[in-house]
Amino acid sequence: MNLADGFAAQVLSRAREETQDWKMLINNEWVAARSGATMASVNPAYDEEIARVPAGGAEDIELAVRAAKAAFPAWSRLHVDERAAYCKRFAQALRAEAREFGMLDAIDSGNPFLAMVDDAKKGASLHDFFAGLGMEIKGETIPTPGGGLDYTRLQPFGVVGRIIPFNHPISFGAGKLAPALIAGNTVVLKPADQTPLSALWLGKLVRECFPPGVVNIVTGDGPECGGALVAHKDVRRIAFTGSVETGRAITRQAGIKTLSLELGGKNPLVIYPDVDIEKVAAAAVAGMNFTRSQGQSCGSNSRVFVHASIKKDFMDAVVALTDRIAVGLPELEATQMGPVVTRRHYERVMSYIEAGRQEGARVVRGGGHAPGEALRKGCFVDVTVFDQVRHGMKIEQEEIFGPVMSVLEWTDEATMLEEVNDSEYGLCANIWTNDISTGLRMADAVECGYVWVNGHGGKRYKGAPFGGFKNSGIGREHSLEELLSYTQVKNINVTF
Ligand code: NAD
Repeated sequence: MNLADGFAAQVLSRAREETQDWKMLINNEWVAARSGATMASVNPAYDEEIARVPAGGAEDIELAVRAAKAAFPAWSRLHVDERAAYCKRFAQALRAEAREFGMLDAIDSGNPFLAMVDDAKKGASLHDFFAGLGMEIKGETIPTPGGGLDYTRLQPFGVVGRIIPFNHPISFGAGKLAPALIAGNTVVLKPADQTPLSALWLGKLVRECFPPGVVNIVTGDGPECGGALVAHKDVRRIAFTGSVETGRAITRQAGIKTLSLELGGKNPLVIYPDVDIEKVAAAAVAGMNFTRSQGQSCGSNSRVFVHASIKKDFMDAVVALTDRIAVGLPELEATQMGPVVTRRHYERVMSYIEAGRQEGARVVRGGGHAPGEALRKGCFVDVTVFDQVRHGMKIEQEEIFGPVMSVLEWTDEATMLEEVNDSEYGLCANIWTNDISTGLRMADAVECGYVWVNGHGGKRYKGAPFGGFKNSGIGREHSLEELLSYTQVKNINVTF
């Protein structure tokens, strides 16, 4: 398909026009980077530049933080119901253009169009969810002797820096603003350098729905632009989603401020011999997120521990299911899996596949560039499944963040559990068994923040806290815990 035709081209040209040629949003005004510098955004399906966006730096962060700081007193003094009304209006506006935002993400990130329409709706729904939770921002009274009152209030921090990764641009760009705003903070959003377009276009809805300065959007690279936001003295709370490596850098740069870190995962799926093989194979494939994000998802079950007695049947079922995944151009409705985000990331994923082969694992599906003339120029890694993976191999230990599933076999439960937990990560785990005692015993024993028993990554409900143990992070999202994490406790002691 040629982007010069059709809906994709219309969306790109409309977004460009409505952002005044891809400007950033500070104080509800469209602005270029102070330095005038720009950086490319590339469509990975064709490996072609589709836009140039501002390469913001410390000066731009300074202006954005100033605007957010100026907007904070009035915003934080509103009743939470009034802030909720703003957020609900924003959610409605985003839902009305979910197809347009979904298409912009498809051509900027490579994720399939329909999955990104769904992501836009998810981002909107988080505003409704947190708007509904607003009245839970309440303190408590503490017993005192007569003649006194002691109570707490939960107050916002002020300016929040929100830094997001590339894998779900509109869902994260829109949705992750919600809890910070409902709690009464103002925000500076820094989208990923690889996928900045939908966040910039979101600026249009921000201008329509929020007072100036409440949400500011600054694009730029990680260390310089993101680093300036992290280090800024007037930003008291940083909320980061991204890699462990960047999480470490942020921890060093931030100084004394409140941080939440939603980091990577290398999530085990443990399969007992008593399960329905067709069902667990379907869950393994769904939970790998091949079809939402090419496996570029923190929650993907990229390490599968299957009992030796059913491994052959399981592998056959997985290969049959993955053969049916429609790999294609992300702007097409029929496509289920697109390219990975950049050429650089493509090379990185390919180097892991090569490392797997070198270490003696066996590719039973994919393992190279996805076939087809239409995909030749793009960053398409084929759906890849490794058999005969052993604990300790690089592909079993490191987060590949691509469409690569590693399958290990087990016989002794204690050894399997030791291997499952021998990981720097601790985000999610998935246990499949028909024995309820085994399922619950294992759910307790796995070292991670979120467990499915007989489920998969697609099954996540708002209100259920999501976040990691160990190097997978600090903090919980999508829940009351997240909303309250954007507040700080003040105690007030009164003598009558
Ligand atoms: P990344 O860490 O490279 O980048 C994330 C963001 O941080 C980008 O906006 C980037 O520009 C910025 N950044 C980079 N260096 C910075 C610095 N020194 N200071 C401030 N900001 C900086 O991550 P990525 O490659 O975009 O995303 C993939 C990672 O995100 C994976 O590890 C994945 O597991 C993780 N992730 C986690 C969750 C979760 O909820 N736990 C969700 C999605 C993605």
